[in-house]
Amino acid sequence: AKGSVAENIAFYEPEMDETARARRQIANDLRHAIERNEFTLLYQPQHCIATGKVSGYEALLRWHHPTRGPVSPVEFIPVAEETGEIFRIGEWVMREACREARSWPKHLKVAVNLSAVQLLQNDFVAIVQNILVETGLSPLRLELEITETAIIADKLRALHFLRQIKTLGVSIAIDDFGTGYSSLDTLHSFPFDKIKIDKSFVLRSHESVEACAIIKAVLALGHSLNVPVLAEGVETIEQLDLLRDQGCDEAQGFYFGRPGGSPSQTADSQMMC
Ligand code: C2E
Ligand code: CA
Ligand code: CA
Ligand code: CA
Repeated sequence: AKGSVAENIAFYEPEMDETARARRQIANDLRHAIERNEFTLLYQPQHCIATGKVSGYEALLRWHHPTRGPVSPVEFIPVAEETGEIFRIGEWVMREACREARSWPKHLKVAVNLSAVQLLQNDFVAIVQNILVETGLSPLRLELEITETAIIADKLRALHFLRQIKTLGVSIAIDDFGTGYSSLDTLHSFPFDKIKIDKSFVLRSHESVEACAIIKAVLALGHSLNVPVLAEGVETIEQLDLLRDQGCDEAQGFYFGRPGGSPSQTADSQMMC
């Protein structure tokens, strides 16, 4: 009968096949994506709330698949992590972001997302160092964004790695904060330079008392540890006002600007707000 369990099962399996096939194709096509110039980086501004000035840009990866069109990083990064392709892709992203940032005004930083898997790479610190030398970007202008989940996976290793990175002069932001399971203890024993409140809380800050309470708690936490807090996913002036009232330091989101081309080509975007 229609809607019966049997019918649903009959349709379920081919769908799974289709998903698995798509994944295999993505995995396969990812291997040539760098050589075929299918990747680009977009840059989204991060604003100081008190002054309105841009302090830096987050680099966000885009893949233009020849037949599928644009594929979201949410879709292909997990596949790249599974196949190990993430190492080459991550290195490409870092080199490209540093090279681009080199041509920006000196006060602007570039933030690069790191996959959890990249922390497991033995020579990762050497790779970062080489890219900095090669591109001539000051380490003080590079920030790496790492999620809570990445740190929890192997705490000792993550700590060792972060200390080395810090020695270079590179700074570290903890990304998507509030969505993982890091304890307060982890937070204070890791050398973070910035906390990024996950956009899910900011987007719900006016409908959800809980989301608002979490934002306040993260701000209190950051400030008691002397770590600046950035809110991501700021889409409206109301959200920005709430964050300013609560003493949030920085903001990023569609309200200020969508991810776009390198700011060196759009010089006036630096004066926004
Ligand atoms: P993320 O690091 O949390 O990046 C923020 C995401 O939120 C980006 O999605 C950005 O375009 C989007 N966003 C920014 N402002 C707003 C806003 O006001 N409202 C809403 N609704 N969304 C906003 P995107 O570019 O699709 O990237 C998704 C995720 O993919 C990133 O989340 C990050 O985890 C991953 N990713 C992107 N680029 C890279 C990369 O180069 N390397 C690695 N490992 N992961 C990356
Ligand atoms: Ca990020
Ligand atoms: Ca984030
Ligand atoms: Ca995220």
